[in-house]
Amino acid sequence: MRQLAAALMMAGLLSPALGQDQAEFERCLSGLRVQAMDKGIAAATLDRALAGLKADFSVLERLDYQPEFRTPIWDYLAALVDEQRIADGRERLQEHAAVLAEIERRYGVDPATVVAVWGVESDFGKNFGGRPLLESLGTLSCFGRRQSYFSGEFIAALGILDEGSLAADKLKGSWAGAFGHTQFMPSTYLRLAVDFDGDGRRDLVDSIPDALASTANFLARAGWQAGLPWGFEVRLPDGFSLAGEGRRSKRSLAEWRQRGVERVDGLPLAPDDLGAGLVQPAEEGGPAFLLTKNFDAIYSYNASMSYGLAIAHLADRLRGGGDFVTPWPTDDLPLDRAGRRELQTLLTERGHDIGPIDGAIGARTRTAILAEKRRLGWEETPRAGQKLLRALRGEAQ
Ligand code: CA
Repeated sequence: MRQLAAALMMAGLLSPALGQDQAEFERCLSGLRVQAMDKGIAAATLDRALAGLKADFSVLERLDYQPEFRTPIWDYLAALVDEQRIADGRERLQEHAAVLAEIERRYGVDPATVVAVWGVESDFGKNFGGRPLLESLGTLSCFGRRQSYFSGEFIAALGILDEGSLAADKLKGSWAGAFGHTQFMPSTYLRLAVDFDGDGRRDLVDSIPDALASTANFLARAGWQAGLPWGFEVRLPDGFSLAGEGRRSKRSLAEWRQRGVERVDGLPLAPDDLGAGLVQPAEEGGPAFLLTKNFDAIYSYNASMSYGLAIAHLADRLRGGGDFVTPWPTDDLPLDRAGRRELQTLLTERGHDIGPIDGAIGARTRTAILAEKRRLGWEETPRAGQKLLRALRGEAQ
């Protein structure tokens, strides 16, 4: 039934508020208020936070959105680790060198890794997400398919207000409730955020030292070991079987070496007793990696291989490392954000209404890409790659 409703909603045939109205929301909030009181949150905090709170039913569409188009890992990485983000990250490393050095002393996490998380999570504070957390989390607590998870986060957000570190108008973030420079969920904030600048408040929104130290604290608590690399890109012998291997199937580097696995940069696989798991993220081939427990710590920030590799690779690039050596298995290389903006500009010039030229490939840009590929007689996929950019560039000249 929900699928039918979602389909009708997408087709614009049904208001998202069917069976879900403000009155039902307020009844549900009364129940959540009791739970929050049980957790020790002050009545005055709840009065202020919950009075007049409106549901935001648009978040339910995001909850049920099943992307019909999965982004290949090489496109994902190209958008998150590009020349612009590397240059910006190096500037941030300089600018915050003193605080990053102090964070490394205290938590054992190096500056490049901390700054890479910041760059991937919020583009160094440029992209926090603008949805009021209490509205989104309150709505997701009362409607939709993950109410018990989101009600825990909603009550955690009320706990943040009760602590007094952040005002309600600062609690804005993604539709799912992640907020601040390093996009913590409220429960993660309560467990792991730290006051690093010493003003008595744990502020992940307006204090860069607090946000960066909280990230390092997260990684340290997730098992980060100082001085250990996240892993290496490796070359596999011909016919090597990856069956049964994976991030969690760790073997010693000595064993990997005996099986013929080598680092692509020619350096020795060492030390012998370091455990690492082998992955090749693209099913069709491409780069392979040995991953240590420091990668697992990054992975626990957001359980996704593409995401973990984006942070690990950005950290390497910030330290002066190069691109992956083994090419991704595609004949249509991905676009970085500058390439995406140029493609959007060319699509706009051809009369497509794609909205702002922001380098983000959303639904309208994909529709325009499909139309252009149809016109060119190409395979109709909504993917933005270098082939289409070159074709449109050629026609524009
Ligand atoms: Ca602080």
